[in-house]
Amino acid sequence: MESFRLDHTRVRAPYVRLAKRVPVPGGGHEVLAYDLRLRTPNTELLSPKVIHSLEHLLAVSLRSVTQGVEGVKVLDVSPMGCRTGFYLTFLSEAGHLSLERVVGLVEEALDEALGYESVPGASMESCGGYEEHDLPGARDVIQGLRFESLVALRDPPLLR
Ligand code: ZN
Repeated sequence: MESFRLDHTRVRAPYVRLAKRVPVPGGGHEVLAYDLRLRTPNTELLSPKVIHSLEHLLAVSLRSVTQGVEGVKVLDVSPMGCRTGFYLTFLSEAGHLSLERVVGLVEEALDEALGYESVPGASMESCGGYEEHDLPGARDVIQGLRFESLVALRDPPLLR
């Protein structure tokens, strides 16, 4: 796993980095996996409720802001088990999506998410832990991020 090669003691959040690029057989498209790190590893982790709400918010807002980008689709938004951030997976026309573009999309998505009155999909019918949410806490995290710039991490420190 490439993610285990990242030196987690030498990165500072918030940042986005390209973790993986996989060409789709047949050509023309690629799958791109990015790390969106919101907390510096082994410092103040996101609470389980906050990261769960952020997952729901980002799942909707990132798809919403990406709709306007031709040739790019969001495949998945998943929380990191260590509760420091998210894995963002896109399907894109080959060579179409840049790291800077993803940083911009995440900033737009976080801005949009701040406008949501409730956590999307947080009902018993559509969520596996519908009582495990914290919208005010998720908003606080987003608000906090607005005062820091989301870094496009190009050359992440790797373990040998
Ligand atoms: Zn859920």
